[in-house]
Parts: sequence; structure tokens; C-alpha cells
Amino acid sequence: MEVGEKFIANSTYLGPEMTAESLKELSRSFQEGLRPTEGEIEKTAEELLWINFANHIIKQEIEALGLSSSLSLEPERVHLFSEDDITNLKGGDGYHSPVTKGLFVRKKANRVFYYRTLFHESVHFFGYHNYHGEKDKVWLKQYRQGFFVRQPKKSRHEHFRGLNEAVVELITSDLLNQHQVEVTAKFKFRSEELQAYRTRPLQPYDSYVELLAFIIYGIAKSRNVEPQKIWSFLKRGYFNGSMLSFPLVDKVYGRGSLRVLGELGTSFGKEDIDVSETVHEFDKIASYFKSRQP
Ligand SMILES: [Zn+2]
Repeated sequence: MEVGEKFIANSTYLGPEMTAESLKELSRSFQEGLRPTEGEIEKTAEELLWINFANHIIKQEIEALGLSSSLSLEPERVHLFSEDDITNLKGGDGYHSPVTKGLFVRKKANRVFYYRTLFHESVHFFGYHNYHGEKDKVWLKQYRQGFFVRQPKKSRHEHFRGLNEAVVELITSDLLNQHQVEVTAKFKFRSEELQAYRTRPLQPYDSYVELLAFIIYGIAKSRNVEPQKIWSFLKRGYFNGSMLSFPLVDKVYGRGSLRVLGELGTSFGKEDIDVSETVHEFDKIASYFKSRQP
């Protein structure tokens, strides 16, 4: 199976506009994600071990959810940069490119922070992906990445950026907690590394996760089911693209609530977002849900 075909088998495409040329372009692009990037550094044996560990337990989780994935995270897809690298990663700690399926992560002296970021980006890699092509030209755009939706024709329009990050982050925490014994045995994080992580200042994503957990509990309570059941339903959708769990948000929190949740995180990040239209402070969104908790 060609590299491109593997991803194509795992993704779907919008409408009739995806031409043979765009598919070829997508395949070429995925191939590019494997190619070494200027400035990246060689991986240590421990980093390779972590990449394989992440690959293994994320795939295991996908299977546990009753799904299958033809994907495997090849170590060549992961590009590591030194902590003081200023040309790559634009100041961030890591990202996953939906178009090349390459992972880019900045090294950190504290391995808990560093390996967690690597794991988070790996969860992005395995999420549902969907692309949009256009008639008569080789033009590709990501349309879905996990739950994150970006309208291909209106670049200023997007939904669920923050919700998607919260889901990725919660999957990361869940899996690393579940495999704590194995992590401790294999990677021997020092107590000062763990302590620094536990006492870190609150990050935006931490608040997103907290809000997501709050909403999951609210839905579970109103449906009289275990929160774990709602969480598994949501996780399945993250990996297979289904948004079937989404209407529950409106059912439990009232009409229009899903729209409010969709705005989470749109004020962070990309410059192609029309800020005046989409800025919604996290606090406003959080208090909206908190005031409606069943
Ligand atoms: Zn992320």
C-alpha cells in the first residue's frame, strides 16, 4: 500500500470536487511528512521508544473503542527540534500538520512536558481527517481534523477548535494515567520533573478540559448514565468522524448551546480568523454552561 493510499483509506472527502489530481497531490503531501525537515535533530533511543509507545497505546485505545485504524505513526513522521530553535515551530511547543501528516515537536529539558506534547500531537495524528479539493485545480484544504471543522471556502469560518483540543488533551491524560506503571518503568521520570508538571501554571487547554469534563458530567447526569459512557461515545467520534454525540449538548443545555461550544478556542491561534466576529472569551462560554448545568 502506498503511503498516500493508507491515509486516503482512513479519511473521506467532501463532495465531487476531489479530483484524481487532488488525490495525487494529497498522496504526495503525505509522503512529504516523512521527509526530514531542515533543522530537525536526530532522535535518541528513548525518544524512539516513546514514539513507539504512543503509537501502540493510541492504537490499542482505538481498538478498545470498537474501531480499527490502518494508520501507524512512523518515527520518520516525527520531527524534533532543539529547545532554543527559533526558526521552526513559530514559538510553539508542537503541532501536527493535517496536510502532510508530519509531527513537529520542540525538545524540553523536562521530559514530562516534552513527552506529553509529543503524545498530544500523536493523538492529533490518529484523529479523523477529511479534506476538500476543488474542481480543475490541484487545491487541497483540511476540512476536518478530529472535531475541528474549517470551512474550505470561507477561511475565516471554523468551529470546535477548542473542543477538539480539549478532547485530544483529555485522551492524552487518560491514556498516560492508565499506563502510568509502564511509563514509570520505561521512562523513569524524575520526581522534580513530575513535580514541575503538577505545579505548572494553568494553560488554556487545561481550562478547556475542565469545561469538557463538566459538560460530559452534565449530559451523563441528565441521561442517567455513567460519564464514562458519554466520554467513550465522544472519543469514538473523534477517531471515526461521527458527530452523533453533538446534539446531546443542545438537548441538555438548551437550543443554541452547541453553537456556543463551537466557538471555544477560536480566539487563540491562527491569523486568518476574523477576530471581531469570533472572539468569545473562555469565561463567557464557561459561565454559559455553568449557569445551565442540569
Ligand atoms: Zn493540539
